[in-house]
Amino acid sequence: MEMYNGLINNLIDELASLPGIGTKSAQRLAFHMIALPQSKVDHLAHTMMKARAEVRYCEQCCNLADSELCPVCANPKRDHKTIMVVENPRDLAAYEKTGRYEGVYHVLHGAISPMLGIGPGDIRLKELMTRLEGDVDEVIIATNSSLEGETTAMYISKLVKPTGIRVTRIASGVPVGGDLEYIDEVTLLRALEGRTEI
Ligand code: ZN
Repeated sequence: MEMYNGLINNLIDELASLPGIGTKSAQRLAFHMIALPQSKVDHLAHTMMKARAEVRYCEQCCNLADSELCPVCANPKRDHKTIMVVENPRDLAAYEKTGRYEGVYHVLHGAISPMLGIGPGDIRLKELMTRLEGDVDEVIIATNSSLEGETTAMYISKLVKPTGIRVTRIASGVPVGGDLEYIDEVTLLRALEGRTEI
């Protein structure tokens, strides 16, 4: 039974198609938006469109940024000779939240997965190798401990080793298959401190 007209249903459907939002939440959000003052909705829509149009990848680490460099790469106080390789910007955010990592990052935007047909050329590996031509002391591989994450870690390790740069892997205190972003800060720090050469 149709309860609402097309416009309301369209809004609910659009919202429900977003990750992590079920029909009930979509409904709640839709009703909330409809009840908002027009100026608030305009601002929300404008913010979304502006972010979509202007957010790009940091020229150094491929993190999300709205200018040439992301705030981490632009910070001269960070240790630019230590690069932590993560799968996505959410993992970077998880490590940043600990406030204890002083190096910089490299965001791969994915992991190698032969099963899904994602090869080394489909993630930001070339950009990492270009960075390693500069002055780098250590590459810390912090990909997830899933099959894809481990495959990616091994692949990167093989690529980096011949350059003579130290390659380490975060400790496996991280539960197998666990997404980095869901792991608490203490576990993340322990994994970082317990990293081993690979
Ligand atoms: Zn950056």
